[in-house]
Amino acid sequence: MPPKQRNIAMMGYRSVGKSSLSIQFVEGQFVDSYDPTIENTFTKVTRINNSDYEVKLVDTAGQDEYSIFPAQYSMDFHGYVLVYSITSQKSFEVIKIIYEKLIDVMGKVYVPIVLVGNKTDLHQERAVTFDEGKKLAESWKATFLETSAKQNESVDDIFLQLLQHIEKDNNGSNQQ
Ligand code: GDP
Ligand code: MG
Repeated sequence: MPPKQRNIAMMGYRSVGKSSLSIQFVEGQFVDSYDPTIENTFTKVTRINNSDYEVKLVDTAGQDEYSIFPAQYSMDFHGYVLVYSITSQKSFEVIKIIYEKLIDVMGKVYVPIVLVGNKTDLHQERAVTFDEGKKLAESWKATFLETSAKQNESVDDIFLQLLQHIEKDNNGSNQQ
């Protein structure tokens, strides 16, 4: 069986760790300073439950509360990783706005999403509680994870969970 192609977009406010999580997942390393303006596409082949997936991961340059949801991210994507930093209340507010815009452009209520609170290693600077993140994800019927790209904590889980979500979403449809 050829690998199943899965297109995933990383979205969120600037500096929350979208690139760090992407690079940690794809290359297994933490890059300390990565050009925040770069938009990159990474590819990784991974095997889950005896199926091969070719994940095309689009690491966006980031959005803020004023961004119009970029039209190119509303088509041909199977799922989304919405990232905030647990050290930034602002990034948590922005992720709510990004979600509303995403749902709006998709024109449907259910989209496979994993909500990620990144930078758990910076616990002394925590500004968003675990419960706040969890409640938000529940209100979206999305999966919630806290991660550390720096310490490679729960990073693979993001993609594992999202791919499983997408699989469920596809059941009964004609996507391969
Ligand atoms: P992006 O703008 O969302 O792509 O964010 P980056 O991945 O470029 O990360 C922004 C800054 O936060 C960089 O200095 C990263 O090294 C740092 N960073 C990213 N993830 C983590 C993390 O899990 N822990 C810590 N301590 N720093 C992180
Ligand atoms: Mg980046």
